[in-house]
Amino acid sequence: MGREARLIIEGSPCNVNYFDRNLLTVKQAVEQGLVYCQNRRACEESKTFCTLKYGLEVAKYVIKGSTLKKEIYEFLDVPFIDEKFWDSENGWEFLQIKGKALALRAVERFANTVLLNDNKSAFPICEKCSGIELEERVLDSIHEDPESLSGSGKTRERFEQYCPTCDPKPRGKIINEDPAKEIAEEMKIFGPREKE
Ligand SMILES: [Zn+2]
Repeated sequence: MGREARLIIEGSPCNVNYFDRNLLTVKQAVEQGLVYCQNRRACEESKTFCTLKYGLEVAKYVIKGSTLKKEIYEFLDVPFIDEKFWDSENGWEFLQIKGKALALRAVERFANTVLLNDNKSAFPICEKCSGIELEERVLDSIHEDPESLSGSGKTRERFEQYCPTCDPKPRGKIINEDPAKEIAEEMKIFGPREKE
């Protein structure tokens, strides 16, 4: 049984313990009374952002029909993504994290906690910072005539994986391509055409 939607949509991680996987309904939460976040005092004093708060926001959108992956990509564009965030994996140990990839990983993790999903990330993990890697769509422009400085106007789409903290954002490249060579390459793949 999943969590009651209203417990997700109307609740707050500041006073509902979403780490408790047995807490499923608003009725249960009301009977328990408010369960204040363990980090409440430090949070109020530091005025730092909180991955739990945004993880819950992401979970709300998922409940309303969005996908977790889409919401994580949207979160990359929030203006405070490079700021420090409080984070916790269990509700009693809190630490501050910084860096886009880690913040996104933490927000995804808490959204999964709220939604009672398992904790596995839907994204590849960056070996350097342990944050998540994203995919960026880039367009390469193809130059067919190496003598000419202007492009052919042709572009080719590809997707490049990158860490939003450790790597620069992928950009399209200029590819010099001889059209005759391209035809020759294609013939190698398909083999010489048979005579009709
Ligand atoms: Zn990284």
